[in-house]
Amino acid sequence: MKILIVEDEAKTGDYLKQGLTEAGFVVDLARNGTDGLHLALTENFDLAILDVMLPGLDGWGILTGIRRAAKDMPVLFLSARDHVEDRVKGLELGADDYLVKPFAFSELLARVRTLLRRGSKAPSADFLRLADLELDLIRRRVSRSGKRIDLTAKEFALLELLLRRQGEVLPRSLIASQVWDMNFDSDTNVIEVAMRRLRAKVDDPFDPKLIRTVRGMGYVMENPA
Ligand code: CA
Repeated sequence: MKILIVEDEAKTGDYLKQGLTEAGFVVDLARNGTDGLHLALTENFDLAILDVMLPGLDGWGILTGIRRAAKDMPVLFLSARDHVEDRVKGLELGADDYLVKPFAFSELLARVRTLLRRGSKAPSADFLRLADLELDLIRRRVSRSGKRIDLTAKEFALLELLLRRQGEVLPRSLIASQVWDMNFDSDTNVIEVAMRRLRAKVDDPFDPKLIRTVRGMGYVMENPA
């Protein structure tokens, strides 16, 4: 899942980017409104986190631009100003949520996950399932045949992508950009290593095998039965 942050305070921006990256998201950070809107309109994000007060274009301007382009990604506003009229203005313009600074990172993360669930195509999907494998999007847990499996944040993100697009052959380039924010030219060994670790946890001890390598193309997750 890819998140855009537009925040001009270097410390807050870096802190958010690091925290969300560690939580398994791919994060782009823009430091002013103009760059932020450009990114929002030219790349695909699952969610945007916008500061209100920004040099260039402010957060409201970015949101207006996003909605005018009919981009329906959820938008979470960050603002130092706890004025009722700000909140109302943001929500009227089509913001999905509003968080007042300073906030706890855990609260931001919880809101981000709620918005992503609400914004996903299957709104009631709290679980992703294939055969006896189950991924719990709320508790961030994975189990197979009822046995709990511990995954790193990257392994979880990788499995989530495979499960969301099950039955589809996913090229390494797509996996690289969605889970690692890398270009295809980058070292794809990272993907192979992570895929091997993921398989060792979710496939090797079980049958049937759900992840398949498609030679020269990528990977597909499906029930062979
Ligand atoms: Ca600011």
